[in-house]
Amino acid sequence: MVKIQPAIVWFRDDLRLSDHPGLYEAASRGAPVVGVYVRDEQSRALKPPASRPLGGATRWWLAQSLRALRSSLEAIGGTLVLRTGPAAAVIATLAREINAGTVFWNGIAQAPHQAVAADVEAALARDGVTSEIFSGDLLVEPRAIRNKENRGLRVFTPFWRRVQGLGDPPKPLPAPKQLASISGIASEDLDDWKLEPTWPDWAGGLRESWTPGEAGAQARLKAFLDDGIKGYTDDRDRPDRDGTSRLSPHLRFGEISPRQLWYAARFTAAEHPRLAGDIDKFLSELGWREFCRHLLFDIPDLAERNLQEQFDAFPWKRDARALKAWQRGLTGYPIVDAGMRELWHTGVMHNRVRMVVASFLVKHLLIDWRAGEQWFWDTLVDADTGSNPANWQWVAGSGADAAPYFRVFNPILQGEKFDPDGGYVRRWVPELAQLPDDLIHQPWTATPIELASAGIELGKTYPQPIVDHKQGRERALAAYAKIRGKD
Ligand code: FAD
Repeated sequence: MVKIQPAIVWFRDDLRLSDHPGLYEAASRGAPVVGVYVRDEQSRALKPPASRPLGGATRWWLAQSLRALRSSLEAIGGTLVLRTGPAAAVIATLAREINAGTVFWNGIAQAPHQAVAADVEAALARDGVTSEIFSGDLLVEPRAIRNKENRGLRVFTPFWRRVQGLGDPPKPLPAPKQLASISGIASEDLDDWKLEPTWPDWAGGLRESWTPGEAGAQARLKAFLDDGIKGYTDDRDRPDRDGTSRLSPHLRFGEISPRQLWYAARFTAAEHPRLAGDIDKFLSELGWREFCRHLLFDIPDLAERNLQEQFDAFPWKRDARALKAWQRGLTGYPIVDAGMRELWHTGVMHNRVRMVVASFLVKHLLIDWRAGEQWFWDTLVDADTGSNPANWQWVAGSGADAAPYFRVFNPILQGEKFDPDGGYVRRWVPELAQLPDDLIHQPWTATPIELASAGIELGKTYPQPIVDHKQGRERALAAYAKIRGKD
């Protein structure tokens, strides 16, 4: 009998067993399967600015997710090998060590990842090892949605119409039930990668807030579709409610696939037709993730370059003190400060509040959106190479299908509208908790008696606003007028 050569599955941002086309295919051949994750900070294509090293929060998430993946693989007889170095050299060496015949992986439609994958494929081919590459990161690959000039679409609504027009994506694949494996393969120790903070250990809030890994992702999806989806269309804008799925970091690391979300949501809509509107809205948000990634496919330097070139001449201010006040949640605007502190504690921020804090930074403080994007990159557990810069550019007005620059969010009205009882602010800015609802979003309008009875000393226990809203707005519009028409 001919002995089947072992196979390798190269995991990247797809840290799951179910709907993992590469793993599914490898397992179905019946050969022993070895999973590998490569900590690659050396491949030329991965060097900044093309691709940035992970931020602190995503490094923490990655460590948890790799542990979860390793135990799921071991539970079905498989193994996860951890190695460091340029992916091409590492994977070719591993293939030689175990005499692998084929390496399987899921493609990532991003230029730096594609360049690294091309190097891996070439290195393997030199040794006579086959590469098999699948799609699993998106509902639709970017090459399937082009305009007449063969460019990706830059406006969301027609983009999403085209995606939907293609019909259902391929059905998600089941996780393999059993893997044949090989033992005794050398692996590095995850703890030696030092992905988690030790001193100071700032990850307590992350641990409280999340269960990284595929099982955690599936449980969140189920809980959301069972209980959370009803009313999503309105509740998704309310930071004081638990109205969204909180799936973004799980999607970021591929612990769950967009196809799994698509089918689970469609199934729920078929069972409960009255939820169809909320489900369509939810899927269109998933469409934004897709849109951002398609943009990144066309524009690899999305985090560096203004998509609208007139913004290259924008008179951004360098203001380290204001930037620091914003980062720490000490701007004197309660909704902004609540958002920035939620981010620091949990590694995420509600979408509505992300828009408000981003607008505040680029408009009220006139600080370059790239400084905000970088802070988010370091502190978000869902920090995403596509969604983060695309949304920052959207808010700044410099991006594709962007909000116009002259739309300056009023942080007081945004707070009053979307956090009407102040529950969100009270949770994250506890020093304001005793203020009545009508003052909670503008403490500086309270009388000295009102402040005293809420235990607040403005300027001491909570800051005065670092910029006056009206003046900030006018200054932003004046700055914008300088670049208008410069394209
Ligand atoms: P839900 O409302 O449950 O939505 C489901 C999924 O749809 C999300 O998990 C996410 O994958 C996707 N999604 C929803 N809204 C958007 C959006 N506007 N753009 C892209 N995808 C979206 N999202 C990230 O995943 N990573 C980022 O780095 C990121 N940076 C952002 C920066 C700014 C300035 C802004 C305004 C938004 C950013 N977003 C980012 C989008 C959005 O805020 C988060 O995806 C959302 O808050 C995640 O919460 P959820 O999973 O509960 O979302």
